[in-house]
Amino acid sequence: MELNLSNIQHFSVGDGPGIRTTVFLKGCNLRCPWCHNPETLSTQPQILRYENLNKEEICGKRLTVEEIVENLLADKCFYDESGGGATISGGEAMLQADGVKELAEKLQQNGVSVFIDTAGNLPYDAFKKVNPYVDGYLFDYKTDESEKYARIGGDLSLIRNNIKKLIGDGMYLRIRIPLIPDFNTHKSELRNICRTLEALGVNTVDLIPFHRMGSGKYKALGLTYEYENVTPQTAEEIEEIKRIFSKYFNTTVE
Ligand code: SF4
Repeated sequence: MELNLSNIQHFSVGDGPGIRTTVFLKGCNLRCPWCHNPETLSTQPQILRYENLNKEEICGKRLTVEEIVENLLADKCFYDESGGGATISGGEAMLQADGVKELAEKLQQNGVSVFIDTAGNLPYDAFKKVNPYVDGYLFDYKTDESEKYARIGGDLSLIRNNIKKLIGDGMYLRIRIPLIPDFNTHKSELRNICRTLEALGVNTVDLIPFHRMGSGKYKALGLTYEYENVTPQTAEEIEEIKRIFSKYFNTTVE
Protein backbone atom coordinates (compact mmCIF):
# COMPACT_ATOMS: atom_id res chain seq x y z
CA MET A 1 0.00 0.00 0.00
CA GLU A 2 1.11 3.59 -0.64
CA LEU A 3 0.91 6.65 1.59
CA ASN A 4 0.64 10.24 0.36
CA LEU A 5 3.23 12.24 2.27
CA SER A 6 4.95 15.60 2.32
CA ASN A 7 8.15 14.82 4.16
CA ILE A 8 10.07 12.42 6.39
CA GLN A 9 11.93 14.31 9.09
CA HIS A 10 14.70 12.52 10.95
CA PHE A 11 15.87 13.50 14.45
CA SER A 12 12.60 15.21 15.34
CA VAL A 13 12.11 16.52 18.82
CA GLY A 14 8.74 17.45 20.30
CA ASP A 15 6.83 14.74 18.44
CA GLY A 16 6.81 12.23 21.30
CA PRO A 17 9.45 10.67 23.55
CA GLY A 18 13.14 10.28 22.60
CA ILE A 19 14.70 10.71 19.18
CA ARG A 20 12.05 10.17 16.54
CA THR A 21 11.51 10.21 12.82
CA THR A 22 8.31 12.01 11.86
CA VAL A 23 6.40 11.07 8.74
CA PHE A 24 4.22 13.99 7.62
CA LEU A 25 1.24 12.79 5.62
CA LYS A 26 -0.60 15.04 3.19
CA GLY A 27 -4.25 16.00 3.58
CA CYS A 28 -6.16 17.53 6.48
CA ASN A 29 -9.88 17.97 7.11
CA LEU A 30 -9.38 21.01 9.36
CA ARG A 31 -8.24 24.51 8.39
CA CYS A 32 -6.58 26.11 11.40
CA PRO A 33 -5.47 29.59 10.29
CA TRP A 34 -2.39 29.37 12.55
CA CYS A 35 -1.28 26.01 11.04
CA HIS A 36 2.50 25.80 10.70
CA ASN A 37 2.42 22.99 8.13
CA PRO A 38 0.32 24.56 5.32
CA GLU A 39 2.02 22.32 2.74
CA THR A 40 0.33 19.29 4.33
CA LEU A 41 -3.27 20.50 4.01
CA SER A 42 -3.93 19.62 0.38
CA THR A 43 -3.69 16.03 -0.82
CA GLN A 44 -2.26 17.33 -4.13
CA PRO A 45 1.46 17.86 -4.83
CA GLN A 46 2.46 21.54 -4.48
CA ILE A 47 5.47 23.64 -5.36
CA LEU A 48 7.07 25.80 -2.68
CA ARG A 49 9.04 28.70 -4.20
CA TYR A 50 11.52 30.28 -1.79
CA GLU A 51 12.37 33.42 -3.77
CA ASN A 52 14.90 34.74 -1.25
CA LEU A 53 16.85 31.45 -1.49
CA ASN A 54 16.25 31.03 -5.21
CA LYS A 55 14.98 27.56 -4.44
CA GLU A 56 11.97 25.43 -5.39
CA GLU A 57 10.70 22.33 -3.65
CA ILE A 58 7.99 19.93 -4.71
CA CYS A 59 5.92 18.81 -1.76
CA GLY A 60 3.94 15.62 -2.12
CA LYS A 61 4.94 12.10 -3.06
CA ARG A 62 3.57 8.61 -2.78
CA LEU A 63 5.78 6.02 -1.16
CA THR A 64 5.00 2.40 -0.39
CA VAL A 65 4.85 1.26 3.21
CA GLU A 66 7.97 -0.85 2.54
CA GLU A 67 9.91 2.21 1.29
CA ILE A 68 8.92 4.23 4.36
CA VAL A 69 9.81 1.39 6.75
CA GLU A 70 13.24 1.03 5.13
CA ASN A 71 13.84 4.78 5.49
CA LEU A 72 12.77 4.77 9.16
CA LEU A 73 14.76 1.71 10.15
CA ALA A 74 17.99 3.51 9.19
CA ASP A 75 17.76 5.32 12.56
CA LYS A 76 16.71 2.33 14.67
CA CYS A 77 19.81 2.51 16.89
CA PHE A 78 18.90 6.10 17.85
CA TYR A 79 15.36 5.09 18.74
CA ASP A 80 16.63 2.21 20.85
CA GLU A 81 19.15 4.35 22.74
CA SER A 82 16.81 7.26 23.39
CA GLY A 83 13.46 5.55 23.92
CA GLY A 84 12.25 7.12 20.69
CA GLY A 85 10.66 5.77 17.53
CA ALA A 86 8.43 6.93 14.73
CA THR A 87 5.65 9.52 14.77
CA ILE A 88 3.09 9.62 12.00
CA SER A 89 1.81 13.15 11.66
CA GLY A 90 0.38 15.52 9.07
CA GLY A 91 -1.91 17.03 8.02
CA GLU A 92 -4.33 14.56 9.52
CA ALA A 93 -2.56 11.21 9.61
CA MET A 94 -5.72 9.26 10.41
CA LEU A 95 -7.34 10.19 7.08
CA GLN A 96 -5.03 7.49 5.65
CA ALA A 97 -5.88 5.01 8.39
CA ASP A 98 -5.49 1.87 6.24
CA GLY A 99 -1.97 2.79 5.17
CA VAL A 100 -1.11 4.06 8.65
CA LYS A 101 -2.24 0.74 10.13
CA GLU A 102 -0.02 -1.17 7.70
CA LEU A 103 2.96 1.11 8.36
CA ALA A 104 2.53 0.96 12.14
CA GLU A 105 2.15 -2.83 12.06
CA LYS A 106 5.40 -3.26 10.08
CA LEU A 107 7.25 -0.87 12.37
CA GLN A 108 5.93 -2.70 15.41
CA GLN A 109 7.16 -6.00 13.93
CA ASN A 110 10.60 -4.38 13.66
CA GLY A 111 10.56 -3.26 17.29
CA VAL A 112 9.93 0.44 16.57
CA SER A 113 7.58 2.41 18.84
CA VAL A 114 4.90 4.34 16.94
CA PHE A 115 2.96 7.41 17.98
CA ILE A 116 0.25 9.07 15.91
CA ASP A 117 -0.23 12.83 15.89
CA THR A 118 -3.91 13.55 15.24
CA ALA A 119 -6.53 16.25 15.59
CA GLY A 120 -9.10 13.48 16.04
CA ASN A 121 -11.79 14.93 13.77
CA LEU A 122 -12.97 11.71 12.15
CA PRO A 123 -15.02 8.63 13.06
CA TYR A 124 -13.61 6.26 15.68
CA ASP A 125 -13.49 3.37 13.18
CA ALA A 126 -10.19 4.78 11.91
CA PHE A 127 -8.69 4.59 15.41
CA LYS A 128 -9.98 1.05 15.94
CA LYS A 129 -7.93 -0.08 12.92
CA VAL A 130 -4.72 1.53 14.15
CA ASN A 131 -4.90 1.07 17.95
CA PRO A 132 -3.32 -2.42 18.16
CA TYR A 133 -0.14 -1.24 16.42
CA VAL A 134 0.67 2.03 18.18
CA ASP A 135 2.04 3.05 21.56
CA GLY A 136 -0.13 6.10 21.80
CA TYR A 137 -1.54 9.26 20.34
CA LEU A 138 -0.53 12.90 20.45
CA PHE A 139 -4.06 14.24 20.30
CA ASP A 140 -4.77 17.94 19.64
CA TYR A 141 -7.50 19.70 21.57
CA LYS A 142 -7.85 23.20 20.21
CA THR A 143 -10.84 24.78 21.92
CA ASP A 144 -13.65 23.93 24.29
CA GLU A 145 -16.24 25.78 22.20
CA SER A 146 -18.22 23.96 19.49
CA GLU A 147 -18.70 27.10 17.41
CA LYS A 148 -14.95 27.75 17.24
CA TYR A 149 -14.23 24.13 16.28
CA ALA A 150 -16.89 24.42 13.56
CA ARG A 151 -15.15 27.56 12.26
CA ILE A 152 -12.03 25.51 11.53
CA GLY A 153 -14.04 22.60 10.15
CA GLY A 154 -14.17 20.43 13.28
CA ASP A 155 -16.87 18.71 15.32
CA LEU A 156 -16.20 19.10 19.04
CA SER A 157 -18.55 16.33 20.16
CA LEU A 158 -16.85 13.87 17.77
CA ILE A 159 -13.43 14.89 19.07
CA ARG A 160 -14.49 14.58 22.73
CA ASN A 161 -16.02 11.16 22.05
CA ASN A 162 -12.84 9.97 20.39
CA ILE A 163 -10.79 11.02 23.43
CA LYS A 164 -13.21 9.18 25.69
CA LYS A 165 -13.15 6.04 23.55
CA LEU A 166 -9.36 5.98 23.23
CA ILE A 167 -8.99 6.25 27.00
CA GLY A 168 -11.72 3.62 27.46
CA ASP A 169 -9.82 1.31 25.10
CA GLY A 170 -6.70 1.73 27.25
CA MET A 171 -4.71 3.80 24.73
CA TYR A 172 -1.95 6.10 25.96
CA LEU A 173 -2.89 9.68 25.15
CA ARG A 174 -0.99 12.94 25.40
CA ILE A 175 -3.35 15.81 24.79
CA ARG A 176 -1.66 18.69 22.97
CA ILE A 177 -3.07 22.16 23.24
CA PRO A 178 -1.80 24.80 20.81
CA LEU A 179 -1.90 28.14 22.65
CA ILE A 180 -3.35 30.46 20.03
CA PRO A 181 -3.61 34.16 20.95
CA ASP A 182 -7.19 35.45 20.90
CA PHE A 183 -8.50 31.98 20.01
CA ASN A 184 -8.21 29.78 23.08
CA THR A 185 -6.00 31.52 25.64
CA HIS A 186 -8.59 33.44 27.64
CA LYS A 187 -8.39 32.14 31.20
CA SER A 188 -12.06 31.21 31.36
CA GLU A 189 -11.69 29.00 28.27
CA LEU A 190 -8.46 27.45 29.54
CA ARG A 191 -10.26 26.49 32.75
CA ASN A 192 -13.15 25.04 30.74
CA ILE A 193 -10.69 23.00 28.68
CA CYS A 194 -9.17 21.66 31.92
CA ARG A 195 -12.57 20.69 33.35
CA THR A 196 -13.68 18.98 30.12
CA LEU A 197 -10.46 17.02 29.72
CA GLU A 198 -10.43 16.00 33.38
CA ALA A 199 -14.00 14.70 33.05
CA LEU A 200 -12.93 12.70 29.97
CA GLY A 201 -10.21 10.98 32.02
CA VAL A 202 -7.16 12.80 30.59
CA ASN A 203 -4.09 12.96 32.83
CA THR A 204 -1.28 14.30 30.57
CA VAL A 205 -1.26 17.56 28.65
CA ASP A 206 1.41 19.16 26.47
CA LEU A 207 1.07 22.90 25.91
CA ILE A 208 2.33 24.15 22.55
CA PRO A 209 3.08 27.90 22.68
CA PHE A 210 2.23 29.85 19.54
CA HIS A 211 5.06 30.36 17.06
CA ARG A 212 5.35 31.65 13.50
CA MET A 213 7.82 29.12 12.15
CA GLY A 214 5.51 28.16 9.29
CA SER A 215 5.36 31.73 8.00
CA GLY A 216 7.98 31.22 5.24
CA LYS A 217 6.06 28.23 3.87
CA TYR A 218 2.91 30.33 3.38
CA LYS A 219 4.95 32.79 1.29
CA ALA A 220 6.54 29.95 -0.65
CA LEU A 221 3.06 28.57 -1.44
CA GLY A 222 1.77 32.01 -2.46
CA LEU A 223 -0.65 32.07 0.51
CA THR A 224 -1.40 34.74 3.08
CA TYR A 225 -0.59 33.85 6.68
CA GLU A 226 -3.25 35.36 8.93
CA TYR A 227 -0.99 35.09 11.98
CA GLU A 228 2.00 36.84 10.38
CA ASN A 229 1.89 39.75 12.86
CA VAL A 230 0.59 37.93 15.91
CA THR A 231 3.01 38.03 18.83
CA PRO A 232 3.99 34.78 20.55
CA GLN A 233 3.31 34.47 24.29
CA THR A 234 5.95 35.67 26.71
CA ALA A 235 7.66 33.20 29.08
CA GLU A 236 5.62 34.68 31.95
CA GLU A 237 2.33 34.18 30.09
CA ILE A 238 3.24 30.58 29.33
CA GLU A 239 4.16 29.97 32.98
CA GLU A 240 0.80 31.37 34.06
CA ILE A 241 -1.06 29.08 31.65
CA LYS A 242 1.02 26.12 32.79
CA ARG A 243 0.03 26.86 36.39
CA ILE A 244 -3.65 26.57 35.44
CA PHE A 245 -3.13 23.20 33.72
CA SER A 246 -0.82 21.81 36.38
CA LYS A 247 -3.68 21.91 38.90
CA TYR A 248 -5.41 19.25 36.80
CA PHE A 249 -2.76 17.37 34.79
CA ASN A 250 0.80 16.29 34.44
CA THR A 251 1.68 19.28 32.20
CA THR A 252 4.66 19.99 30.00
CA VAL A 253 5.43 22.90 27.69
CA GLU A 254 6.80 21.85 24.29
S1 SF4 B 1 -5.24 20.07 12.25
FE1 SF4 B 1 -3.04 20.43 12.26
S2 SF4 B 1 -2.38 20.14 10.13
FE2 SF4 B 1 -4.62 20.38 10.11
S3 SF4 B 1 -4.94 22.55 9.73
FE3 SF4 B 1 -4.97 22.26 11.94
S4 SF4 B 1 -2.86 22.62 12.62
FE4 SF4 B 1 -2.80 22.29 10.39
